[in-house]
Amino acid sequence: MNLEEYKGVFVFAQQVDNKLNGIALELVGKGKDLAKDLGTEVTAVLIGSDVMGLTKELAEYGADRIIVVDDPELKEYRTEPYAHALAEVIKKYKPEIMLVGATAIGRDLGPRVSARIHTGLTADCTQLEIGDFPINPIPGREQLHNQLLMTRPAFGGNTIATIACPNFRPQMATVRPGVMQKAERVEGAQAVIEEFNPGFVPNNKYVEILDIVKAVSDVEDIMDAKILVSGGRGVGSAENFKLLDDLAEALGGTVSCSRAVVDAGWKSKDLQVGQTGKTVRPHVYFAIGISGAIQHLAGMEESDIIIAINKDETAPIFDVADYGIVGDLNKILPALTEKIKEA
Ligand code: FAD
Repeated sequence: MNLEEYKGVFVFAQQVDNKLNGIALELVGKGKDLAKDLGTEVTAVLIGSDVMGLTKELAEYGADRIIVVDDPELKEYRTEPYAHALAEVIKKYKPEIMLVGATAIGRDLGPRVSARIHTGLTADCTQLEIGDFPINPIPGREQLHNQLLMTRPAFGGNTIATIACPNFRPQMATVRPGVMQKAERVEGAQAVIEEFNPGFVPNNKYVEILDIVKAVSDVEDIMDAKILVSGGRGVGSAENFKLLDDLAEALGGTVSCSRAVVDAGWKSKDLQVGQTGKTVRPHVYFAIGISGAIQHLAGMEESDIIIAINKDETAPIFDVADYGIVGDLNKILPALTEKIKEA
């Protein structure tokens, strides 16, 4: 493999029902930063059916170029045709870096594509940067500059591993949704659009979609919420979450929770914040009766303002909190909600 042939930062622009997933724009934003460090461009790869209309949004969020693979076979995500399409794009354009969101779709697609093109993949990254890789065992290539350094939690979040892929290309990673920042939208920004035909899109012999049943929820996705009122084991019971519901309602916020709450069956998994839940970045995050375990912090410490309420003044959540109230949540929450309603 001649590594010098591989140029540019590529990101998979995931869409479902002709709507871009938030991760697509987050990857364009991060890809742009990495491309700047490498003196190259960021290219979005858009795969689907009748998706040309999405190129405007990708361009306005910073894509320099968009490669569109448009085929009726690609209307709904299925592993085989999508993996074929993305692998063919990589074989033709030879990117130096290929990023995919660590969504349900991306976790399926990324490893299959990396196996097909014989490169490595670092899964579920929370940080990406360009840097030097000093310990390459290959003689003559011991010192490698401008490598993609891919960082992810390992061993249940007890350690943070930084991984590089110095001898294969592209350097591939899946990236946690909600961790990277979108770039500022620039109305009217243009990108180079290229249509690509991956040869043939094979009929998927193994999977036929008979019906799609959408989850129905009247609760806002916690990843989109501007104010999160998050409860932990200290709330005490499912019923006592009423105190958090009331505060959330007074603030126009959404309730979320720690894993202990999900494990206890008080709340559903889609409300869980943290390493094995969702990564959130609201303007305000209330951590109520949450101790601040490292796996919880991994999902919320990038929030703009963190307000912790805990009866234990030594709880680690206070180390990351901007404001802290030490006391019993059963007394503090009703009083706080009342004051907010009066204001
Ligand atoms: P606790 O640690 O039990 O804390 C309860 C807090 O409530 C205490 O600080 C206590 O002082 C306070 N409290 C009690 N009563 C009151 C009261 N009346 N008023 C005020 N304060 C009170 N956790 C996550 O949250 N998200 C994850 O995604 C996640 N992933 C994990 C992945 C792995 C591989 C592992 C090993 C663990 C993971 N965990 C995760 C679990 C994590 O380690 C903690 O166990 C969990 O976050 C603890 O939840 P908690 O803070 O609600 O409960």
